[in-house]
Amino acid sequence: MLNIALIGCTGNIGMQTAQIVRTYPSRFRFSALVCGKNGGGLALLKEEFSPRVALRADELPADLSEIFSDCDVALIAASGFAGLRYTLAAVKAGKRVALANKESLVCGGELVNAAVKKYGAEIVPVDSEHSALFRALGCKKETPFERLVLTASGGPFLRKSREELERVTVKEALAHPTWNMGAKITVDSATMLNKGYEVIEAHHLYNAPYERIEAVVHPESIVHSAVIFQDGSMLAQLGYPDMRVPIQFALTYPESLPCEKPLDFSSLGALHFERLPEEKFPCYSLALRAGREGGTSPAIVNGAAEVAVRAFLEGSISFPRIAETIERTVCRVSAKRAETYDDIAEADAQARRVAGEIVHAF
Ligand code: MG
Repeated sequence: MLNIALIGCTGNIGMQTAQIVRTYPSRFRFSALVCGKNGGGLALLKEEFSPRVALRADELPADLSEIFSDCDVALIAASGFAGLRYTLAAVKAGKRVALANKESLVCGGELVNAAVKKYGAEIVPVDSEHSALFRALGCKKETPFERLVLTASGGPFLRKSREELERVTVKEALAHPTWNMGAKITVDSATMLNKGYEVIEAHHLYNAPYERIEAVVHPESIVHSAVIFQDGSMLAQLGYPDMRVPIQFALTYPESLPCEKPLDFSSLGALHFERLPEEKFPCYSLALRAGREGGTSPAIVNGAAEVAVRAFLEGSISFPRIAETIERTVCRVSAKRAETYDDIAEADAQARRVAGEIVHAF
């Protein structure tokens, strides 16, 4: 029986994890369930799964290690920067951390990696691209490689012109062509900020220099990512776009569990690959530049992005203003070294304040 502490239990990844636990009741149980604000959703899950701990984020003890004390795997599926403190606490408890919160590595990659070493913890990616890379590397992060190739569906706006992007609606941004995800990450996929984040995530997970990571558009979302080795050969992982596969694998690897719908070649049709049009999606390059700069730069980008995406979802700014808000925030907030959690949290708070002013002034 595998005990799971699930942070972000009422979100999209949380609900899909609950489905997995329902499917395999003899394999998994929840030792802890934590949600953001959805107390009603939490109460339903608490009744169904009877975890030892069931709390909203505002009810948590100051010492988060209490949540992770009796779990085998901590699944961090909180959304945004808020995920970092959970990831750090789970790592300090020396657990296997199934990481569905990419902001933990984007904003705090160096800090998280140092803590993983110090406390003997392990990070296993839930993000589908990084799960694919992990499998292509034979589930060994130290496997030598030449390049990592992240695939990108391209999101709903791949074929839109810059002029058309001025007028896209929230509803259109939330209509992702292949993946079913939460609102924030779906908008991040539409701006391609998400793909920039995934490059940073791959850099920290696989100790990969930025020049050895590339992103390529693959609209069918069947090839989830690929590794190119020194001899020029490439290994990729393929599957239907279904987050339950990487979630499950992060829980049970190296074992995998049976699935209802194995990949069937006869149903696939043609698979396409094309260049990622960076010039149309400035958020991608903004994220990458911040990743290369390191320190608190990515946290500044992320803080600004969280404010800008919320404003877009509320209908107060247009789609291209998301990138503009991030760019202007980066110009106004100076990056520092990210040696402690407080360094990063301070950069996050400052970026949010500045981005809030920028959004308000549009
Ligand atoms: Mg992904």
